[in-house]
Amino acid sequence: MKPDAPVRVAIAGSTGSIGTQTIEVVLAERDRYEVVALGVGSSVDALIAQAQVLRPRLVAVADPTRRAEVAAALPFCEVTGNLTDLVEVADVVVNGVVGFAGLGVTVATLRAGRRLALANKESLIAGGPVVRPLRSVPGAELVPVDSEHCAIHQCLRSSVGPEREVSRIVLTASGGPFRGRTVDDLRHITLEQALAHPTWKMGPKITIDSSTLMNKGLEVIEAHELFGVGYDQIEVVVHPQSVVHSMAEFTDGSTIAQLSMPDMRLPIGYALAYPNRIATPFGRIDWTALRRLDFEQPDTDTFRCLSLAYAAGREGGSAPAWLNAANEVVVEAFLGGRIGWLDIAAVLSAALDVHEPRSLVTVDDVVEVDARARDVARSLLHQ
Ligand code: MG
Repeated sequence: MKPDAPVRVAIAGSTGSIGTQTIEVVLAERDRYEVVALGVGSSVDALIAQAQVLRPRLVAVADPTRRAEVAAALPFCEVTGNLTDLVEVADVVVNGVVGFAGLGVTVATLRAGRRLALANKESLIAGGPVVRPLRSVPGAELVPVDSEHCAIHQCLRSSVGPEREVSRIVLTASGGPFRGRTVDDLRHITLEQALAHPTWKMGPKITIDSSTLMNKGLEVIEAHELFGVGYDQIEVVVHPQSVVHSMAEFTDGSTIAQLSMPDMRLPIGYALAYPNRIATPFGRIDWTALRRLDFEQPDTDTFRCLSLAYAAGREGGSAPAWLNAANEVVVEAFLGGRIGWLDIAAVLSAALDVHEPRSLVTVDDVVEVDARARDVARSLLHQ
């Protein structure tokens, strides 16, 4: 790459929430970045519209039934069926795929020695033992696009010495739409209520995960994987304003926090520009409008998913992959109106009880654990 040539950005999951916001960041910083490749599962109409504006070199469409249609609509670019092909033409790959399906892009990007801007936390959580060694491939670099982990990544830059000086990581949680409710209050809540997140506008899967605090639980595992910090040193605190995105505490008692308004374009821009920063101030705080920052302890009796994730993380090995797969099945059932909100934690607890541990060495091992856990979760749903 020439020093002043724009950084080439590929977006896997380009029509989702992270994908569309990545395009906004690139367009705001168009002298520094260009989108060279876009990939989707089957959201073909939105992909075609994006490609007609951005004119990428390559588009990937996982759904084989829609590929010819895309090729006909976009004669100026190459069309492939494999999202991992995006890696070949880019300097940075933004992985905004939803769920476990993002594992292939995570692995391919690191294996190719590229920067991975990772919004797909599931691939890191499920594939931890497989993804970990790939991070030392020359050129490979993982920069998180999760607001909390972006915050921690920034906080840790305040410790530059060779010694390990972090004593604690504090992940903030908005608490979701049901903060302050009890189990009795939550017996009859609807899908619409669960989808109404108070501070973040996100896709449906992560929004439901936020309502159960499973998202925070998965983020605890993600923090463990990303920063090598033990589970006893990772705490969760509820912070309803979503302005403090997380904190790192050091051995001398100092706590460094990262603050900004809730806007995912900031973590996306950070991951593109690191170690530099973009020029567009997404998430800038207006101190004349911000009145207070509140903090409270999470209610783990009501939001059991947080404890389940800690348990899976502490068990390690294939347990995070198992829990993640079961969670995807159960959340899908909730989104489909087949189970109630309280059933989510109940089924996941039962699924974790019957976890079948196995060692994860290859991607295929992870895929097999994922498939087995999905089967188990489906059979538990039918009981
Ligand atoms: Mg997050």
